[in-house]
Amino acid sequence: MAKILKGSEVTGAMNAQLNERAAALKNKGIVPTLSIIRLGEREDDLAYEKSAIKRCETIGVAVEVTALSSDIKQEELMSVISHLNENAKIHGCLLLRPLPDGFDDKAVRNALAPEKDIDGITDISLAGVFTGSGAGFPPCTAQACIEILDYFNVELTGKRVSVLGRSLVVGKPLSMMLLKRNATVTICHTKTKDIQSHGRACEILIAAVGRAEMIDAEYFSPGQIVIDVGINVDASGKLCGDVKFSEAESIVESITPVPGGVGTVTTSVLVKHVVEAAERSVGI
Ligand code: NAP
Repeated sequence: MAKILKGSEVTGAMNAQLNERAAALKNKGIVPTLSIIRLGEREDDLAYEKSAIKRCETIGVAVEVTALSSDIKQEELMSVISHLNENAKIHGCLLLRPLPDGFDDKAVRNALAPEKDIDGITDISLAGVFTGSGAGFPPCTAQACIEILDYFNVELTGKRVSVLGRSLVVGKPLSMMLLKRNATVTICHTKTKDIQSHGRACEILIAAVGRAEMIDAEYFSPGQIVIDVGINVDASGKLCGDVKFSEAESIVESITPVPGGVGTVTTSVLVKHVVEAAERSVGI
């Protein structure tokens, strides 16, 4: 049976380090502060907000929530972001997306100052990931996959990695981050032919397709490490990943669970980025 790569082990180690860094900032009179901007009351936004607040409290990071109506005008949202950019007490901003219909997503996300873009949504942050310049921050979920692989000492240099999914939130930036770490990366998507063979051929499989339990036994081979990014609900309304866990666990070497895998680490990465943004603001 596969070893389960538990997110809680990774976050435990991360949180211990973050506590120390947040305490060091407090000694300098700086309280790392996250601003969350939410439009409307979508259930998954509220759930992410709740877990982010809880994790921030554990570390000693302050949180300010700006809850806006889902039918505000784009100019009002832009004005909120602009004030936040100018507020030196706020170190990082999480803008919960997708935005409601009618908003110009590109214009809104790029209104955020890159130094406060702790979830890698601006083009400057994404360019930082692609060029390796370090501008802004990488998207938290992509970074969470790297944190998991690093925590469990998975060597990336020279490894064949298949990334299933090419979104700007996960697949594309993560592929670049893996490439930077000298992995040989194959990116798969809806137009990929015989996608299962790309699954079987790799040593590390990253599933980020957003399709409940699509990745079944046909995608796996023995000895693989599987990172399941997916957060979906199955036909019975139960939370599940992109991977059919019951079929993977009898074939692969190790696998992240859903829930309790990438998602929980993503929240700690968010807090890590706020602490880092606060450190950068005072030149640490
Ligand atoms: P997305 O924007 O919908 O992108 C999905 C990607 O998967 C696309 O590139 C799409 O290909 C590809 N894809 C979809 N169906 C496919 C199929 N049948 N065969 C091959 N490729 C397929 O999703 P996302 O935002 O990247 O999120 C992916 C998953 O991660 C979702 O389950 C989401 O809930 C989860 N997620 C988790 C976290 C976390 O913290 N754990 C954070 C963010 C997202 P095309 O480009 O060709 O359409």
